[in-house]
Amino acid sequence: MATIAGYRCIRCGAEYTYDIKIDSRGCPKCLDQAPANLEPLYTRDSNAPGFPGAGGVLQNSLWRYASFLPRSGSQVVSLGEGLTPLLHAERIGEALGVPRLFIKDEGRNPTWSHKDRFSTVAVTTAVGQGARVLATASSGNAGASLAAYAARAGLGCVVVTFAGAAGPMVSQIRAYGASVVPMAHKTDRWKLLERTADRLGWFITSPYHNPVVGSHPIGIEGYKTIAYEIADQSDGHLPDWCVLPVCYGDALAGVIAGFRDLLTIGRIARIPRLVAAEVHGSLTTALEKGLDRIEEREPSFETVALSIGTTRSTYQAVKALRDTEGRAVCVSNGDLLCMQKTLATKEGLFAELASVAPLVAIRHLREREIIGRDDRVVAIVTASGLKDLDISAKPTAPSASFENVEDAWQWVSKRAEGKR
Ligand SMILES: [Zn+2]
Repeated sequence: MATIAGYRCIRCGAEYTYDIKIDSRGCPKCLDQAPANLEPLYTRDSNAPGFPGAGGVLQNSLWRYASFLPRSGSQVVSLGEGLTPLLHAERIGEALGVPRLFIKDEGRNPTWSHKDRFSTVAVTTAVGQGARVLATASSGNAGASLAAYAARAGLGCVVVTFAGAAGPMVSQIRAYGASVVPMAHKTDRWKLLERTADRLGWFITSPYHNPVVGSHPIGIEGYKTIAYEIADQSDGHLPDWCVLPVCYGDALAGVIAGFRDLLTIGRIARIPRLVAAEVHGSLTTALEKGLDRIEEREPSFETVALSIGTTRSTYQAVKALRDTEGRAVCVSNGDLLCMQKTLATKEGLFAELASVAPLVAIRHLREREIIGRDDRVVAIVTASGLKDLDISAKPTAPSASFENVEDAWQWVSKRAEGKR
C-alpha cells in the first residue's frame, strides 16, 4: 500500500502537507489565476509488493494494484470493482474505419459505471479518516456509486441532484438507502454541499466550488487503474489513442496519471494520446485558444448525455489533452442516439448515451484523418445503457400478443425475408 505524504498542484507544482483541507477549490496559489486540482504525493514502503501487488480477495478487484493506490487504514471498501473486459470491437470498428478498435466496457462495474473506481478509493479513505457521512452532487452515476459504497461501509450518504436527472439512476441511488436531495437550480447543489462540509464535517467527493477544478483528488486515483488494466490487457500492443467521455475530466486525469506510473516503472515506453468527447465545447475552445482558465460556454441545446453535460470543464482535463497531443470533440444528440443503437446492434453492448460519445468522437477524428486506419484505439465506454433508459428509449405502445402460432409465423417469416 502507498501512504499519502502530501499534495502537489498539477499546474504550478506547489506542494502541500497531507493534512491540507480538500475543499474542491484546488491549489490555493492558483485560485485567482487558473484554478487547478491537486494530486497526491506518496511515500512507498520499499518492501511493498510489486505491481500488481495485493493478494487474497483483493486480487479480484482493482485493489490488486494497491501498491499504487492511497490507503489510510486497514479496511478496504470494495464491491469487486475494476477488471472490466477490453473487447476487440471489429464490426463497429470496421464501420468507423478503425479495425483495431477496442472497447473498455466499464458498464460491468458493480453499480454499472466507471465511477466505482473512484468510490472504492474515496470511501476507503473516508473510512480511514473516521468520516460518518459521505455526500456528492451528481446527475446520477457518481451518486449511485457513492451510495452503494457508503452502504457497503455502513456510512450515511446524501446525494444532491437536480430536477432533470435520469429516473433509473435516482431510483438506484434510493435503493442503496441514500438520501436524495433534488434541487430546482443546479448551482444550489454546491452551495448546500459547502454548508454541510463547513458545519457538519461531511466528506464531500464531488466539486462544490466555482470555478470547478475536478472531484476529490483521492478518488481520482482510482481511475489510474483503467490505464493499468489497458496496459495489462493489450498484450504488449499499447493503444495509440484512448478516448473518453469527459465532464470535469476526473477519469482523463486519472488515466494519464496511471500511464505515467507505468512509464516511471518501465512497464510502457510511451503514453497513448487522449481524446475528450464533450458536449458544449469548453475543452475544444481551451485547446484552440491555449487557455489555462477554462471558459463557461453558453449551452446551445439540451443534451441527452446528462453525465457529461457541463458547460465548463477543468484545467486537469485540458492539461491531460495537451500533455499527450490529444484532441477534444463535441458530440450532438442525434449522433449519440444513433451510435448507441449501432453499438448495441453491431457488438451486443448496450451503453448509456454519454458513454457512446467516444465512438462518435472516433468517427469524427477518423473522417478528418487525425486517427489513421491502422491506429490502435481504445474507447472507454463508461456506463450501462440501463442507466438512462427513460431518455434513450422511445415510449412504445405495448405490442399485442399473437393469438396462435400461424399468425406469429407469418410475421416472423416476413421479418426474416426483410433481413436478407
Ligand atoms: Zn497551483
